[in-house]
Amino acid sequence: MQILERVEETDIQSARDYVTKAYETVRKRNRHESEFLQAVKEIFDSLVPVLARHPKYIEHRILERIAEPERMIVFKVPWVDDQGNVQVNRGFRVQFNSAIGPYKGGIRFHPSVNASIIKFLGFEQIFKNSLTGQPIGGGKGGADFDPKGKSDREIMSFTQSFMNELCKYMGPDTDIPAGDIGVGAREIGYMFGQYKKIRGRYDAGVLTGKGLEYGGSFTRKEATGYGLVYFVEEMMKDQGLSFKGSTVVVSGSGNVALYAMEKAAQFGAKVVACSDSDGYIYDKNGIHLDTVKRLKEFGNKRISEYVDEHPEARYFTGCLGIWSVPCDIALPCATQNEMDEKAAQVLIENGVKAIGEGANMPCSQEAARQFLDSGILFGPAKAANAGGVAVSALEMAQNSTRLRWTAEETDARLRGIMTDIYRKSVKAASEYGRAGYLTDGCNIAGFMKVADAMIAQGVV
Ligand code: GLU
Repeated sequence: MQILERVEETDIQSARDYVTKAYETVRKRNRHESEFLQAVKEIFDSLVPVLARHPKYIEHRILERIAEPERMIVFKVPWVDDQGNVQVNRGFRVQFNSAIGPYKGGIRFHPSVNASIIKFLGFEQIFKNSLTGQPIGGGKGGADFDPKGKSDREIMSFTQSFMNELCKYMGPDTDIPAGDIGVGAREIGYMFGQYKKIRGRYDAGVLTGKGLEYGGSFTRKEATGYGLVYFVEEMMKDQGLSFKGSTVVVSGSGNVALYAMEKAAQFGAKVVACSDSDGYIYDKNGIHLDTVKRLKEFGNKRISEYVDEHPEARYFTGCLGIWSVPCDIALPCATQNEMDEKAAQVLIENGVKAIGEGANMPCSQEAARQFLDSGILFGPAKAANAGGVAVSALEMAQNSTRLRWTAEETDARLRGIMTDIYRKSVKAASEYGRAGYLTDGCNIAGFMKVADAMIAQGVV
C-alpha cells in the first residue's frame, strides 16, 4: 500500500512537471496571446490526474501536439461600404485538430477578433466537439469586422469577400464552419450562396446553421440555449433542485441568451435580467421575451429600448452590474471573461445555486474556482454550451443522408446528448479524484478520446 502511494505521488509529480514544461513551451511560442494561453492553462492544469495515471500521453508529447494548430489561415478581406469607400479587414480560420473528424466550429464577426481569440475558441472546440460523442474535430474562424450599424448590403459585400478566400480551405469532409457572435442565419445564407457560386456544386453539408429552406436542421437555432438549460437542469436534478420556481439572470441577448431564456421560462423559471454590450435590463416580474426577440433577433436595436415598452423595468448602463442582481441561477451567455472573481463573489453572497456557461470561457479561471470551492453547481462552457455544435453535427448527418428529421426528433436527440455529456463529465471527474468538479471532468473526458485517436494515428 505504502509503495503504491509512493509510486502514485511520483507519477503525480512527473505529470505536474510535464504540464509545467509543456505549458512553458506553449507560452513561449504564443507569448502575446492571453486568451489562448488562458484556455490552454485551464485544460492543462485539469489533466494532471490523467497524465499521472496514463504516462503514454506524456511519452507521446500529447500536450505540446494538441496545443499546436494543424493549420492557421490568415487572410485579407477587402470590401466596399455604402459610401463607396474601400475597407479592409482581417479574416482567420484555425484548423486546430482533426483526429476524430473534419474541423468543425463557428465563425465570429466582432471587432475584438484576433489570432488569440480565434485560437482560444478553436482550442476549446476540440474538447467540446469530442464531448458531444460525434465525429467532429476542432476549428474556428472569424474576422475583426464590426457588423454593428452596417447595412444589409454591406454585410453581404463583406461576407462574400470573406468567403472568396475561405472557400479554398473548406468542404463537407474538410472543414465545416457555422455561426458564432455576429454570424447568424443571414450571414450563413450569404456564405453558402457564395461558396456554391464559386464551387459550382451544392455541398449541402459544407456549412451548418443554414435556413430551413435549404438544408438547415430543426432546433439548430435554439440548440445552444436549449442545450444549456437541459444541461443545468440535469445538474440541478442531482441535488434535488430545478429551474421550476427559480429566478434566473442571463447575460447577453444574442442567439444563445434568447433561447436559454425561452427554455428556462418553459421550465417554469422567472428570467429577470439580460443585457447587451451597452448595459442590462432588470424586470422583476419576468422579462417579456417577445419584446427582447423583436429588438435583438429581428431588429437591430439596443436592449435599453425595452424599458420604453415596459416602464416597470429598469435599464442600467455597463455590463458587469448584471451579476449583482440576486438570482438562483446565473447563465453567462455574452462573451469571454465577462465574469470575474468579484462578480462571482457577489453572486455567491446573494445565494446563487447554479451557474451554466452559455458563452465560451465567460468566467475567469478564478471565478470558476470560487464557485466550485464554494460547492455551487458549475456547468463549464465546453460541456454546457455544446448543444449548438451537437445539433450542427446532426445537421451534417441529415445533409449526408438527404433526409430531414422532425423538430421533436432533433430536440429529443439534443436533450439526450446534453444528458450524456453531463454524465460523462461527472464520471470522469470522480474516476480521476475530482468528484464534483465538472470543469475537470469535461476536460478529461473530452481530452482522452482525442488523445487516444492522435496516438492511434501516429505522429502526423
Ligand atoms: N459557435 C458555436 C460554438 O461555439 C457553434 C459551432 C458550430 O455549430 O459549428 O460551439
